[in-house]
Amino acid sequence: MTILDSVLKPASIAVIGASRTPNTIGHQIMANLLRYGYTGPVYPVNPKASSVHSVRAAPSIRALSEPVDLGVIVVPKEQVLEVAAECAEAKVRGLVVISAGFREIGGAGAERERRLLDIVRSNRMRMVGPNCMGVLNADPAFSMNCTFAPTMPPFGHVAFVSQSGALGVSVLDYTKEYGIGIAQFVSMGNKPDVSGNDLLLQWEHDEAVRAILMYVENFGNPQRFLEIASRITRRKPIIVVKSGRSRVGARAAASHTGALAASDAAVDALLTQAGVLRADSIEELFDMAMAFGAQPLPRSRRTAVLTNSGGPGILAADALDRHGLEVTELDAATVSRLRPLFPEEASIRNPLDMIASATPEGYRTALDAMLDDPKVDSAVAIFVPPLGLSQGAVAEAIVAAAAKHPTKPVLGVLMGREGLPQGKAELHRAGIPAYIFPESAARALAALRRHREWQAQPVATEAPLTVDREAARTILGAARAEGRARLDEIESIHLLAAYGIPTTCTRFATDPNDAGQVAGEIGFPIVLKVVSQDIVHKSDVGGVRVGLATPMEVQIAAAQMLDDVRRRAPDASVRGFVIQRMISGGRETIAGLTRDPAFGPLVMFGLGGVYVEAIGDVAFRVAPIGTLEARDLLTGIRGSAILRGIRGAPPVDFGALGDILRRIGQLGVDFPEIVELDANPILAFPDGARAVDARVLLRQP
Ligand code: ADP
Ligand code: MG
Repeated sequence: MTILDSVLKPASIAVIGASRTPNTIGHQIMANLLRYGYTGPVYPVNPKASSVHSVRAAPSIRALSEPVDLGVIVVPKEQVLEVAAECAEAKVRGLVVISAGFREIGGAGAERERRLLDIVRSNRMRMVGPNCMGVLNADPAFSMNCTFAPTMPPFGHVAFVSQSGALGVSVLDYTKEYGIGIAQFVSMGNKPDVSGNDLLLQWEHDEAVRAILMYVENFGNPQRFLEIASRITRRKPIIVVKSGRSRVGARAAASHTGALAASDAAVDALLTQAGVLRADSIEELFDMAMAFGAQPLPRSRRTAVLTNSGGPGILAADALDRHGLEVTELDAATVSRLRPLFPEEASIRNPLDMIASATPEGYRTALDAMLDDPKVDSAVAIFVPPLGLSQGAVAEAIVAAAAKHPTKPVLGVLMGREGLPQGKAELHRAGIPAYIFPESAARALAALRRHREWQAQPVATEAPLTVDREAARTILGAARAEGRARLDEIESIHLLAAYGIPTTCTRFATDPNDAGQVAGEIGFPIVLKVVSQDIVHKSDVGGVRVGLATPMEVQIAAAQMLDDVRRRAPDASVRGFVIQRMISGGRETIAGLTRDPAFGPLVMFGLGGVYVEAIGDVAFRVAPIGTLEARDLLTGIRGSAILRGIRGAPPVDFGALGDILRRIGQLGVDFPEIVELDANPILAFPDGARAVDARVLLRQP
């Protein structure tokens, strides 16, 4: 018995507010429980009616002598608290509160919700809602449709939780047409008690649930979601549609990282890290859910396309390629096996185009041969109905061939309306998804493959990072004591160094004369930089000079820099100079940290330098990050090939860069007062990487 069984697997239900009036929610829920044959007893509760839907009604839940597991509350908002209290008294264990008029209306509603939650918590009940569309368990053992949806979805192994009730219910309405079998459905409503995370925990060990779909508008506890979801996705897929925007960093322009953190970066990072598949639309959610319903996960990216028409075959191949799958060459044996069976115009390769004369028998033989091919681990079978050939017969042939290869996923594409229902029904019976367009099939197959790759990833055991927290605390403390919201260049570099991030020898000089002197002590070549609280990007105002070779050069350059900066940033007060050992030849990368109000610290990585914002090629992860996530960041950007080395350049040190990213994440976790951090550039070499510039913004004291 898990915590939410009283809500999702109740032995008996009372509908408080069950109504005789047609077209009311209290009428419809009662009707659905009866019509779809809920297997336990249902008790309508209504003080004004002796029976509802021919079932004797009790005037109140107290008047019932039988025990009730789940109380469904459909009374006006003013009566909800009283009814909930009565339920508690009657030892009801779960509540589904359909009634609206709570936090969503603000003010008095929010107060009412708090009191409702109090009643629930103090009586150890669990509650879905308020302001929701109900719950459903399609397992024949329960056959419970406790919603006011117009239909009952077919039973299957997909669980679905929706933060929008109306959307959830209309999705349920489509499941039959799309061949998606539903195990359980929950409309969360305002979710003060039962949250998405609770449902994940409930479904984690429920064998009836093999895939989880979520429509989410906001994450109540993202860190907890990350923890739970990353564990579950190792065993079953979670597919999320996330709407709404989570604004990262209102102080955007103050650093590169802030500016680059798109509103959605945190959500993307969180979902990727948790191994959750993100669908951009409900349509895509359907596409994926169809495939995850009954198909195995592909062993490799190599896939085959079978078609009776060239165009759709090419579109499929393009889309598969775009999504990272490989439309491989067929084995010579497969080609010679198939060649004699098809007319000369047929193209026996991948995509395999049998042309319009293809018969159901052709589909069966060709698909069977392709799935037999050791180079092929999945297939997309496309059918465009020509004259005189039924979708049903072709679908049957696809099913027969697929059945011989149960470890290789097969996705169907049935184009054209003629005979479509028969074709679809045939495929759905065998658990083969049927798409209308090849692109949808490609996207879904890619999701299957991604999920398999995620599950194949080893779980890394991380060596703890050795850092000097005390030194970092001292640096941050000093700036805060002075009421500064920003560390200067020297402090920033020292902060990184305290956390074990390699830097280069960096010292401060007060004036041009001093600059020459300090440079002589460090050794050449030297980089000279201006130090000013008022300048964000030094090179923008002529505040960086590289490659200085003698003390005299440094001194002259410093004097000139003062002039330049005064001209280009007349309001900036210059405190002095950074004198830094120049290191040449590295590839410029950026690592950063930003803080999302809900998600916490985010680590950013990208190709760096002064053009970083223009290029915008960056990726985010929620801190803290492990070795695998660090590696994902490094390989996840578009320009990763530059790091691997192009035109004969050797690859940079991924290990060293990954280590830096983990340390930056740790800084973010350890010091909540750091609101933003840029290390730009971090110069990456084949052996090692070094930060030469950093910018650290602190929470306003
Ligand atoms: P800012 O970002 O404020 O303009 P930086 O310190 O990042 O100032 O310097 C700008 C550019 O100068 C860097 O992107 C890098 O190309 C180069 N640079 C800065 N410091 C060094 C150094 N120590 N060694 C080599 N190149 C450097
Ligand atoms: Mg910089």
